[in-house]
Order: sequence, then C-alpha cells, then structure tokens
Amino acid sequence: MPELPEVETIRRRLDAVLPGRAFTAVAVADARLVAPEDPGEVADALVGRRIEGVGRRGKYLLVGLDSGDTLVMHLRMTGQLRWTPGPPDPAVPHARARFDLDDGASLLFADLRRFGRAWILPAGMPDAGAYWRARTGVEPLTPAFTARRLGDLLAGRRTPVKAALLDQRLVAGIGNIYADEALFAARVHPRRPAGDLTAGEVRRLHRAIRDRLRAGVDAGGASIDRYRDADGGRGGMQDLLRVHRRRDEPCPRCGTPVEKGRVAQRGTYWCPRCQPSPGGGPC
Ligand SMILES: [Zn+2]
Repeated sequence: MPELPEVETIRRRLDAVLPGRAFTAVAVADARLVAPEDPGEVADALVGRRIEGVGRRGKYLLVGLDSGDTLVMHLRMTGQLRWTPGPPDPAVPHARARFDLDDGASLLFADLRRFGRAWILPAGMPDAGAYWRARTGVEPLTPAFTARRLGDLLAGRRTPVKAALLDQRLVAGIGNIYADEALFAARVHPRRPAGDLTAGEVRRLHRAIRDRLRAGVDAGGASIDRYRDADGGRGGMQDLLRVHRRRDEPCPRCGTPVEKGRVAQRGTYWCPRCQPSPGGGPC
C-alpha cells in the first residue's frame, strides 16, 4: 500500500504539472470509486474547474479547485495515478477513472483491487478541520511532530507499538513498510507495548520515523507490490529496506537472520537481536 513517501512522490509530480490546468472531461468507469456519490455528479463538480494545487494529508491526496471544492483521492492497496502529457496509455490495466485536462494531458486512476476511493469535499465545509482530525493525526515530517508529541501519543497505550504507529489518527502516513523500518532503526521490538517505551526509545523512534520517511521520499517511494509513480516509474526505496520483506536475510547491523511474524494483523519483520522482545523471551 502506498504510504506517506509514495503519496508524497505522486503529490510532488502532480503539483508540478496540474496547477493552472482545468478539467475538460471526467469519465468515471467504475462507480465504486466515488460511491456513494454519483459518478455524473462528481464529473459535473470537476469539469471546467481549474486546479489550484495538489496537497496531502497522511495518505490522502487533495486536489484543490478554484470552486473551493477539494477532490480527495486515496490509493488504498493498489491504486495508481498516472499522468501523461497526452491521452492515457491504453496499456495501463484496471483503469477506473480518466480526467482530461485543458493542455491535452490526462490523469488516469488505475487500481487492480479497486479499494481506492475518490470524493469531493465541498467548498465552505464548516467542519473541515474536524473532518481531517478524525482521520489523520500529526504529520510526521512537520515541526509539529516532536519527540515529546510522540511520547504523549504513545503514553498509557497497551497496544503493540507497531499498531500505534499504524493508527492514522495518531501519526499520519505510516504504513507497514515504514513502521518496520523505523522500529528497526530505533532498535525497538514491534510487539513492545507502546506505553512501555523509555524516553530514550521514544527519542530514537521519533528520529527513526522522520529519517526513514525522508529516505523514502528521497528515493521516490518503495515499489514493492504495485506502487508506481505518476509517470509509471519505479521508486528506489525497495532496495534500501533493511528488514521489511527480508526474512532470513542477515540483519545489516548484526548479521542475525531477520524474523517475520504477525503484529497488528500485518506481516512484520524485525531483528531478534537488535530489537529485544518484550520480557526478553522468544517471540
Ligand atoms: Zn540485528
């Protein structure tokens, strides 16, 4: 699933080519993409509108329009957004919606598993702040995300720290890949109860989250599973992962084989030596 670095990579590309352009036609081939909204009504809200900018909240992409409306898109498991300077590449499979632009370019929403979603947040929504606070917590690459803030978010929680990191309402944008990588970098076992981390561990984890997310953005995202950038290219982060999807490979720090288990219902990878299990026993 695309996480913060992958969505941010797409956002940067789209924000370089979309602002100033207007939608000339919108064809939603799969009504489930915009459900429960009506595909025709969504198209009507977009056609003729000019794009002011492309933003991001956690894993959500926000296309701001001159009407004041915002087109929100979430790629979920396998969604892809492909920008092309002309008509969409007919070779891209599983197209669900096509957006034509007034410079002849187009944007295609393709999605093998069809969990991705798109919807419109109307202009003048009175409680937009509350809307986003209910879905996304602190943005980890902003100054608001401090070690103290992370400590406050984890304090008192008995859930595994990995589950806390995956909770989008606490910290926005972290998914399975970057949670594993950050916990490894911080030398914290993913099953440790979140509230049990020492102040030093919280500081290490805070630093590791920012460092690994920035590495992911710098590398253009991780192309494991189906992630592709807005030009259809692959990222480079998959080659820089230290434990995620590296079961039985040597830990890059100590050489111990990487272990895999299930934490927070997700396939999870860690080094059993660098990341001691809670209570010291085997996991
Ligand atoms: Zn190790």
